[in-house]
Formats: sequence, C-alpha cells, structure tokens
Amino acid sequence: MIKALRGTQDILPPQSAQWQYVEAKIRRICSRYGFAEIRTPMFEQTELFQRGIGETTDVVSKEMYTFTDRGDRSLTLRPENTASAVRAYLEHKIYANQGVERWYYIGSMFRYDRPQAGRYREFHQFGTEILGSASPQADAEIIALALQLFRELGLQELELLINSVGCPQCRPAYRQALVEYFTAQSDELCKDCRSRLDKNPLRLLDCKEEGCRRVAAGAPLLTDYLCEDCRTHFAAVQEYLTAAGIAFTLDPHLVRGLDYYTKTAFEIQYLPLGAQSAVCGGGRYDGLVEEIGGPATPGIGFAVGLERLLLALAMQNLLPETGEKPLAALVTHGEAADRAGFALAQELRAAGLAVDTDLAGRSMRSRFKQLAKAGIKYAIIMGEDELAQSRITLRNLQESTQESIAMEDLVARLQTEE
Ligand code: AMP
Repeated sequence: MIKALRGTQDILPPQSAQWQYVEAKIRRICSRYGFAEIRTPMFEQTELFQRGIGETTDVVSKEMYTFTDRGDRSLTLRPENTASAVRAYLEHKIYANQGVERWYYIGSMFRYDRPQAGRYREFHQFGTEILGSASPQADAEIIALALQLFRELGLQELELLINSVGCPQCRPAYRQALVEYFTAQSDELCKDCRSRLDKNPLRLLDCKEEGCRRVAAGAPLLTDYLCEDCRTHFAAVQEYLTAAGIAFTLDPHLVRGLDYYTKTAFEIQYLPLGAQSAVCGGGRYDGLVEEIGGPATPGIGFAVGLERLLLALAMQNLLPETGEKPLAALVTHGEAADRAGFALAQELRAAGLAVDTDLAGRSMRSRFKQLAKAGIKYAIIMGEDELAQSRITLRNLQESTQESIAMEDLVARLQTEE
C-alpha cells in the first residue's frame, strides 16, 4: 500500500469545503485592503532561499527540500513565499512603477520539520507582502488585516506580540552584547544554542529549552540598543495600532526564524493551540530586495499557517460542516425518463441551479433514502407518466409536500428558492 508521506495530508470532501470557506474569506478581506494575488512557482533555485532567508537559519540549514534536477541544477521546494515574491518583484521590474505593491498569496510550503499536531512537512500559508513602503502605517495595516481575518472567522482570545529587531545599523552592537552575555553562561545552554551562538545569537532569545529560557530571561534587550530611526519607527507603529484600537503586547524576545527581518517583528498567537500557538508571523524586511540583487526597497509581510488556523477554528466549532448542498436532486424511473431527466438536469444547471443526478443506478427507494440522509430539499421526480405529459413532480423532502409542474416552468420555480 502506498501512503501519503509523513507530514503531508490529503484534503478531501467535506473538509475541502472548510478550506474553501477560509480561502474565500481571505480573498474578500484582501480585496477590501487592496491586496492582489500573486502565484509563484513551487520550486526555485536553491540560491534564492540561501540568500534570501539566510544560510544560518534552521529553515535553510536543516529544513529545505533540496534536490538536483536532471539538468544538474540545485532546486528547492519553497519553504516560504516571501523570497519568491521578491524575486518576482525584481524579475518583472515592478519597482520601476515607483509605487507601493500590495500582494497576497495562498499556497503550499515545504519544510523538513518534525511532524506533530500543527506542524507538517507540506503545509499551507496565506501571506501578504507590501513592497515599496517604509511607512509605519504599512506595518499597522497588515497587522490589522490579519486580525480582521481572524475576527471575521470568529476567533477570539488572540494575542498580538510585537517587537523591533533593529536594522544593520543597530543590530551589530546588540549582537555583540548578546554573544558576550550568552558566552559567559554557555554551560547552561542546549547544544543547538551553543552552536547558534556564533552564527545566529538572536535565536537564543526564543529557544524553548528550560535552561536556555532561564539564561535568556536576563539577556540584554534589543529595544535598549535601537538606533534613532528604528526607535521612531517602532513608536509610530504602536501609535497607529493604538489609533485603530488594536491591543498588543511588547515582547522583547520575539525574534522570528528568518534572517531577513528588520525593525518590526510580530506574531499573532491563539493560545488554546498549545505548543504550536503561532497562527501568524511576520515582520519588516527592508534589506531583502537588495540582498536578492535589486534596488533598496522596503518591504513588510506576514504568513498565516492555514492548518493551524483551521485547527483553531475547528476547536471553536467555527467551520461549516459541509460545502453547499445542491438545491434539488433528480429521481428518474425508466430508461426514457433517465435520458429526459439528464437533459433536464443540464438545462437547470445551465440556468445556474445546483442539481444532483444519480450515477449509481439506485432504485427509487434507495435514492430517496440517500437524499433524505444528505438533507437535500427537493426531489425532481420523473417517471414514464410525467414524461408523457412533459411534467415533473417536485417533492419537498423536508416538508413531505409535492406539486406537479410543467417542465418548462421548473427553472423559474426553482429560481424562486435561491
Ligand atoms: P514562518 O514562515 O516560519 O514565519 O511561519 C509562519 C506561520 O506558518 C507560522 O506562524 C505557522 O502558523 C505556519 N507554519 C510554519 N511552519 C509550519 C509547519 N511546519 N507546519 C504547519 N504550519 C507551519
């Protein structure tokens, strides 16, 4: 038996309707905020992620699905979508418009992670990117968008954490202070953190190991090292959020896993999810476009893990149980009626009505049983007698009433139901 790979999953009906429900909500909100969709390839040159995300990050050093194709190129299944978005921004010279781009995406990402509830190897993200704006209002706008989505889906108990991770001007001094602080206590750190100490000391701040957390609790804070520019930006982001009535918690240890972040970093947590409580993570990446070879262009974005979001919604019974049911189902009896019924179904569908037909060759009795179970409202019954008079019997299965209708009047009759 060949099975789906560990960390991947099939999304089948009726669950797929829940995904469509969430995705439809995402698309509507994005369009209200002026974001247009981008779709980039699922795989890219490995170098894009190495340069964009950073060689020392866990994502690049441990989690990428990298392979050599038949042309001997090193390719990688995208572990996230921001690097690809920026690549597309450069490749198509979108920066030449000199404007601000608001983009969003929905799609599969791939990471060789340790699978557990809320953590998969193929997972889906919805994300946004604003390219070309350094304004703190951009930071507040995407945060507002994410929160609006969660609120409209019905989620409460969300916590917004924000921090500033500084910029290449102020981060080196802070990094130095961190390295000194942690080196002095390196005996207390886990193996991973000891090796991160040289390469990526900021990550020591959000290690989940007990010992590391104890040490990290007394570590110097980046907010004390911010340069003037980063400090004013961070203050302004907070003012915008406050102006819109958005509550937030300052978390000086929030650093996020990808190297490209500058200034604002944020996370939205849904605490009932437990260990994997981050449903949304994002931040500013003012250096990324340049890093990938373009003109200096500020950017900011976030990504929402859709599996986690659906898990959170399911916990609160906030997902529709099924997709939309057809309004009516055809029940025919006899070969001539089967054919005429098929033609009638086509006519109804062409008129925009959702009509179910039977492809299993059921008897009328088992067909009615099936429709009752599915909760379909109307049966369109056609036997030899009805056919001879060009009429059908429309039975309301919920109220057990029925009426005889001329075939040509059926479209109009059913349209009054929609
Ligand atoms: P990141 O791209 O690492 O900033 O993650 C953004 C969001 O994607 C997280 O807050 C999670 O909701 C989700 N996410 C990241 N990695 C995984 C994974 N392996 N499985 C499921 N969701 C994930």
